[in-house]
Amino acid sequence: MERIVFINGVYLEENNAKISIFDRGLLFSDSVYEVTAVIDNKLIDFPAHVLRLKKSLNELKIKNTFDEKYLLEIHRNLLNKNPFSNKEGLIYMQVTRGSTERDFLINNSNIEPNIFAFTQEKILTETIYKDNGLKIITIEDLRWQRKDIKTTQLLFASLAKTEAHEKGADDAWLIDEEKYINEGTSNNAYIIDNDNNIITRNLSNKLLPGITRQTILEVAKKLKLTVNERPFTIDEAISANEAFISSASTLIAPVVKINNNIIGNGKIGPITGILRETYIKISKNQSI
Ligand code: PLP
Repeated sequence: MERIVFINGVYLEENNAKISIFDRGLLFSDSVYEVTAVIDNKLIDFPAHVLRLKKSLNELKIKNTFDEKYLLEIHRNLLNKNPFSNKEGLIYMQVTRGSTERDFLINNSNIEPNIFAFTQEKILTETIYKDNGLKIITIEDLRWQRKDIKTTQLLFASLAKTEAHEKGADDAWLIDEEKYINEGTSNNAYIIDNDNNIITRNLSNKLLPGITRQTILEVAKKLKLTVNERPFTIDEAISANEAFISSASTLIAPVVKINNNIIGNGKIGPITGILRETYIKISKNQSI
């Protein structure tokens, strides 16, 4: 069955939703996006996603003509028109600078943003990897230097994830020139050391400020767990007690192998387990 998707104010069957070949998102990756998790048919961390979208648009000076109420209505309508069989899934939303004659020079004066959104069925809470975990390899991070903006310039991340699969792993952690881990291809990266401290890289232009990351740090505080926001190396990660990733589409997923080294006992660690459970509980309570 065709999904009903949203594009520029209208809801259409997915095959009828079209965008111009002159769209700058298509020609220059001149666009930003958000992915919001849905659990029990409700949106997780929606206001935070809207705030980050606003920041991304501001950074790129793309016109922002969308307020939270309007974006919430789109998300709610999509959920009603495309009920998830398991009450869980994702809503993807993209805003491009708009369509205009192809030119490297940006002229915002006569261009209106294109906005579209669609649902994706996905099991989020009862996944296979929640207990068995993910295998990670590390790859040099060759993305641009503004990884803090959520643009659709995702080719390097997509190639890196594909390389990881070709090498028998699930995903890659991207490392900087000093061998510190920036983040995963589409998730933030964490380790837990021998003193049960959670370590995740501090925010900068080297990584995306994950919305899930933000909530996890609040949950960790509630659980009285110590979080050190600082860079960590591959060697530290390999000798960690536990490791995990976070994103709207994986929530919290344990990492059990890094470059073929087993982390902990090769299964979800106890702190990752508590954090995941509590994260889901608190997020569901706060969902709208
Ligand atoms: N880092 C990158 C590069 C991402 O693409 C994503 C999500 O797509 C994240 C981190 C996690 O962000 P969030 O928790 O907001 O999904």
